[in-house]
Amino acid sequence: MEIQFASFDDAVARFTLASASPAFANALRRAMIADVPTLAIEEVRMYDNTSALFDEMLTHRLGLIPIKTDLATYSSKESCACDGAGCPSCSVTYTLSVEGPKTVQSGDLIPQDPKAVPVHDNIPIVKLTKGQKLVLEARAVLNTGKEHAKWQPTVVCGYKNYPVIAISDVCDACGMCVDECPREILIAKGKKVEVVDSKLPDCSMCRLCELACVASGIGDEPAIRISSERDRFIFVVEGDGSLPVKEIMQRALQHIKGQSDELEKQVREISGDGKK
Ligand code: SF4
Ligand code: SF4
Ligand SMILES: [Zn+2]
Repeated sequence: MEIQFASFDDAVARFTLASASPAFANALRRAMIADVPTLAIEEVRMYDNTSALFDEMLTHRLGLIPIKTDLATYSSKESCACDGAGCPSCSVTYTLSVEGPKTVQSGDLIPQDPKAVPVHDNIPIVKLTKGQKLVLEARAVLNTGKEHAKWQPTVVCGYKNYPVIAISDVCDACGMCVDECPREILIAKGKKVEVVDSKLPDCSMCRLCELACVASGIGDEPAIRISSERDRFIFVVEGDGSLPVKEIMQRALQHIKGQSDELEKQVREISGDGKK
């Protein structure tokens, strides 16, 4: 298996995964979305809410605010020594007290742990008019996207098979496919059309070039053929800011490894190899 990064920072990673099965590519995608824990607000205690929104709507909005998550500090409620009662090792509390006129924003949440701040401080929660009040206490816990989308660490996480463009000798460089391609992948050079340098990964495999080629009257079969590599994938992963993309990838891979180690252990036990 090979991995090659086209771009990589805390927010976005674009990379090619080669010599991998479609099943592994999909397992990696799913693990990054659903098996990497983050903090999200789960409980809200309303002390005063005279805003235009119901308590439930406000609570839902608070739950969707991405929170910077330090996975070395926090553990899940289930694995915490407090047995799920809630303590500083498995939860963060926030207080909010705002009086209108003002738009309440994520930055108005005051965390008990200064590291566990909302990723952006300008996410609007509710608009208060003069005299309206919002006073609450919220508690964020660790969980995964498998439980609810608010714990997903990614906003974009997908892949496509690596495109292959084959141009046969029948091509007469008429340029119709060049004009039709919406991503400017093709260029007419000499007696044949060619793929623009380094543009191949941008091909969406829409096949408009094939249709244009047949429409050019060259025959029933197009001179340009679009297909894809079965074991090579182009990934785009964008985080919501709760974790750096590097950590999302590492944790997802650790999760897959943990699952396969567990499966191997169980297979060994069933087959009796574990007793030897
Ligand atoms: S498949 Fe679509 S994007 Fe790719 S080269 Fe053909 S027209 Fe362009
Ligand atoms: S439309 Fe067909 S014949 Fe014309 S340049 Fe493209 S591939 Fe070649
Ligand atoms: Zn705890």
